[in-house]
Amino acid sequence: MAKKTAKIVKPVKAAKPARKPVKKIVAAKAPKAAKKYVYAFANGRADGDRTMKDVLGGKGSGLAEMTNAGLPVPPGFTISTAACNLWYAEGRKLPQAIEDEMMAHVRRLEQVAGAQFGSTANPLLVSVRSGAKFSMPGMMDTILNLGLNDEAVEGLKARTKNGRFAYDSYRRFIQMFGNVVLEIPKEKFEHEFEAVKRAHAAKVDTDLSEQGMQETVARYKKLVQRETGKPFPQDPVQQLRMSRDAVFRSWNNQRAIAYRRIYEIPDDIGTAVNVQQMVFGNTGDRSATGVGFTRNPATGAKEFFGEFLVNAQGEDVVAGIRTPRPISELAEVMPNSYKELRQFTSRLEKHYKDIQDFEFTIENDKLFMLQTRSGKRTGYAAVVIATDFVAEKLAKPAEALLMVEPAALSQLLAPMFDPAEWKKVPVATKGLPASPGAASGQVVFTSEQAVAWTEQGKKVLLVRKETAPDDIHGMEVAQGILTATGGMTSHAAVVGRQMGRPSIVGAGALHIDEKGKAFSVGGQTVKEGDWVSFDGLTGEVKIGKVATKPSEILQVLNGQMKAADSDIYRRFSALLGWADKVRRLGIRANADQPDQSELAYAFGARGIGLCRTEHMFFGEGRIEKVQRMILADNEQDRRAALAELLPLQRADFYGVLKAMHGEPVTIRTIDPPLHEFLPKREELMVEIAKLEVSGGNAAELAAKRTLLKRVEQLHEFNPMLGHRGVRLGITYPEITEMQARAIFEAACQLAKEGIKSAPEVMIPLVGLVKELRDQKAIVDRVAAEVMKEQKVRIKYLVGTMIEVPRGALTADEIAQEAQFFSFGTNDLTQMTFGFSRDDIGKFLGSYQDRKILDRDPFQSIDTVGVGQLVAMAVEKGRKTRPDIKLGICGEHGGDPSSVHFFHKVGLNYVSASPYRVPVARLAAAHAALSVKVGD
Ligand code: ADP
Ligand code: MG
Ligand code: MG
Repeated sequence: MAKKTAKIVKPVKAAKPARKPVKKIVAAKAPKAAKKYVYAFANGRADGDRTMKDVLGGKGSGLAEMTNAGLPVPPGFTISTAACNLWYAEGRKLPQAIEDEMMAHVRRLEQVAGAQFGSTANPLLVSVRSGAKFSMPGMMDTILNLGLNDEAVEGLKARTKNGRFAYDSYRRFIQMFGNVVLEIPKEKFEHEFEAVKRAHAAKVDTDLSEQGMQETVARYKKLVQRETGKPFPQDPVQQLRMSRDAVFRSWNNQRAIAYRRIYEIPDDIGTAVNVQQMVFGNTGDRSATGVGFTRNPATGAKEFFGEFLVNAQGEDVVAGIRTPRPISELAEVMPNSYKELRQFTSRLEKHYKDIQDFEFTIENDKLFMLQTRSGKRTGYAAVVIATDFVAEKLAKPAEALLMVEPAALSQLLAPMFDPAEWKKVPVATKGLPASPGAASGQVVFTSEQAVAWTEQGKKVLLVRKETAPDDIHGMEVAQGILTATGGMTSHAAVVGRQMGRPSIVGAGALHIDEKGKAFSVGGQTVKEGDWVSFDGLTGEVKIGKVATKPSEILQVLNGQMKAADSDIYRRFSALLGWADKVRRLGIRANADQPDQSELAYAFGARGIGLCRTEHMFFGEGRIEKVQRMILADNEQDRRAALAELLPLQRADFYGVLKAMHGEPVTIRTIDPPLHEFLPKREELMVEIAKLEVSGGNAAELAAKRTLLKRVEQLHEFNPMLGHRGVRLGITYPEITEMQARAIFEAACQLAKEGIKSAPEVMIPLVGLVKELRDQKAIVDRVAAEVMKEQKVRIKYLVGTMIEVPRGALTADEIAQEAQFFSFGTNDLTQMTFGFSRDDIGKFLGSYQDRKILDRDPFQSIDTVGVGQLVAMAVEKGRKTRPDIKLGICGEHGGDPSSVHFFHKVGLNYVSASPYRVPVARLAAAHAALSVKVGD
């Protein structure tokens, strides 16, 4: 690269985004305010930097940052994401001004590189690389060696005195351009290439001579002519424009859309395009290309990790054309470049304060850095790396917290094999341990089958030769992913790790017959539906089903293992300890049983946000009593049945209150409609018909008929909006009375044993303040009675769920009675949208396909609509009662982005299911670190 030309690329100062002009005429006269769409990076200076991912995409901002840091990065420029969006907005073309801006950068790059586009003597060759804000592995293809044509290739040959290299580069270019831009299937190129290799008795591409490469080029050009009816484009500027547009277009290919859906990446942010001078890893034995990580992304271990190939170009390593070599061998082959690479990447790790995933190329013993980004890693590795960074003083605890995605913590709680059971089954084969975790399932060979069987309730293991981005749906539902080819950086490995799905790749001994739906290994044949198990941490694959057991963390929490013996447990709890120091939100759990409550407490929940009493009604030997209560047609009989339920409920509450060690426990009075506790109408009718035919027991028949009559009486057209929640308490006050008595008797009993408890009685589905007033009077009366009887004083609260829109709208009135609100965001979402929670599955897919909805509002709170009701109720509630306690107990309490929102609107706590409590703790810390309340 020419050094003298550095001046020429003096970066154009980034213009501020054009403000809305006050007067149109002024704007028209001030062309300087025009927005910048193209950003250069060359010779130690870049227009952009790491903070500009939105504009430059991840790859572009990384290239800019590395350039500024003085690392050897081939020069180039980045066309911004805004240009991509404009391209779509303008009907798939760019305004002339941007075309001109791009060409100015091409000319500048020619000067920096000392080479010209289309020159015969010294052609400028570039790569065209996509790169959105969020990395989307394998979603968009890169074109290398652009700028070559029939004349330039001769120029390259003459200049490098390496004809084989020149024609190898040209055939690669035609293939990539032909596939990505002209959309000619890859197989057609491969078919031609195979024919040439056969003719020359070459096993792999490196065996081919210049002659072979020239023949390949000739065949490829004919193929292009055949497929498109036009010759292969020879004008480099045209090649560049077409490639750029293909990158823009690929933003909306199906694989990219599917990926964005799964990772909740917005569709409208667009991709940047990077145009960069080529460096060549394919000039011979002193050249190489590779990829790597600064630490092991599967286990988090501090070891340099990666793969490389001698005499190859970028894509070869991941594409599995030849088997890549472990990066440690680079130390022997090219020791200087290896040393330099380690220096650069450690610097990058320190600079970015995160594990880096990098790409490099060595051209004739000179190292170039081509990419760096935060490495995707398993949840396990994330925790190990974050805690190591603190121990190594590379990061402060608050920074380490942000290195772990809250949702990734649930991977650490995933099951593992029982070692004793695992030992019993012989190892069938071993592959590369790409993503840890125990997987056991029935084998399927296609993603469609994986999805179909999962829907039938089966556990599947996806077995593929290799995975492609289209497989993402199958990978998502499978227990594990097993492939026969590919390395630690193959698609299956990268995506498996990111999803936290146990994965083994490159199990080369597997002979997979995808059409015949079977694979064989070591003389054994495994058919679709057979069970296979594997351990993603060791790479061992076994035929058969092996029982899994709880993760180490769970074992420690259950007391089966000592904390001192579990490294990962200690890291996990250290990390969550830091989270607890920074978070503002309290964390509670939704739990109905004492054992669940204990687990939740062990996971760090301090309080129960929702204890559903009706779950207790379904317990063994209880449903008959509940039915008797429901079937009673007068108050006296109902009270008698309730009296039998009282001791059972009291015992439940005793257990749950005790398990929370004095932390508040929110107990909700009965919510579901009564018919849910009775048998189904159709089933009863069948049973009655059978008894009638067989002339069975007359008393039984009579009983069933009575039951049927009551079931029919209770039948509702719309039970979700029917006789449930507070409405039941109003029609049957004795139910509320019994439940309140059970709660306070349990609390009194604990008090007498010297154990503190803090019950909070919650009335569900309140929309009118008078509903709550009615029920609160009952609760307060019973509380007073019990306390007087037992001669114990208990501190308690009475409050309500805000889950009916009218409740939110009149929260100021309701707060006159309620000492706390707990947002029931499941029902609130249901009633705000009018989407039935149980039926949304029928149309959600269509809504997402048509971009009417991004996400399932039952998983992640709709901040705009439902969220507005929450925010309003918070404000109104606090106005009436400044010390009102505010929490949320819907499923959203364990969803990180919803937790952010609840932090922002100023709730006191969130409540999540026990297994999601660690996720919620970390998410609450993230929220506190990134948003201030009220922002
Ligand atoms: P992806 O996003 O799929 O990783 P990249 O744009 O990073 O795609 O490019 C794919 C491969 O091509 C990478 O291995 C990279 O190293 C290589 N590559 C890209 N640009 C150049 C270049 N200018 N010179 C040499 N190799 C390149
Ligand atoms: Mg890359
Ligand atoms: Mg509800």
